[in-house]
Amino acid sequence: MATYETEAIVLRTIRFSEADNIVSLLTLERGRVAAIAKGARRPKSRLGGRLQPGVRVNLTLHQGRGDLHGIRGAAPVEPNAGLWVESYRLLAASAVLETAMRALPEDEPSEGAYNLTARALALLARTPPGSGPARLDPVVLGFRTKLLVAIGFLPQLAGCVSCGADVAATAFSARMGGTLCDDCAGVGDYVGAHVLDALRQLLGAPLAEAAPMQRSVAEGVEHLVGALLMEHLGVTLKSAPSL
Ligand SMILES: [Zn+2]
Repeated sequence: MATYETEAIVLRTIRFSEADNIVSLLTLERGRVAAIAKGARRPKSRLGGRLQPGVRVNLTLHQGRGDLHGIRGAAPVEPNAGLWVESYRLLAASAVLETAMRALPEDEPSEGAYNLTARALALLARTPPGSGPARLDPVVLGFRTKLLVAIGFLPQLAGCVSCGADVAATAFSARMGGTLCDDCAGVGDYVGAHVLDALRQLLGAPLAEAAPMQRSVAEGVEHLVGALLMEHLGVTLKSAPSL
């Protein structure tokens, strides 16, 4: 049985037995894993305080015979303390963590997905609170859009994914993975040009440059990205409204 060290982001913690926590981690070395933090809820535990959702840590993990890894040690890398002082930031970070939790497979490391998650949390820890719902924050939407690419799914956002026509798109099909021309719109759903432009912008620009958008546009982007996650991974996000 092996002990190894890795950087990790805490995605979720759940109480387990009297004093332990089960911690869902996104690790750089092994992808998403579940680990047990023994004694993490004892008052003097240093482990517990360092393993809050959204925190980046260096971990010493032990992989035993079962599915659960054991946490032997944790040293802070980036506590993202700014997330805890503002409910808007915390809600936006929760949407990011939930997406990573549900969209990233277990035991499949992805440096791209890891770095993207780390970047999103760092940005949200100092983002000014928006006026709309936190789940529509441009960093959250940019994160979800780029995560699709990091896990190997790039939506086609030029021309028609059905007939190949090189014309302006008016519709979108999550099943076919891209935009549709007017003639083929029937196999998808009509989508406003502003929504498609916003999606292209989020894909093309660095996450730090994800620009605020009108609420109806943000909701349109959320809908499209949610439909793609649903179609290609079978994932439904709790923090998103039902499609
Ligand atoms: Zn077409």
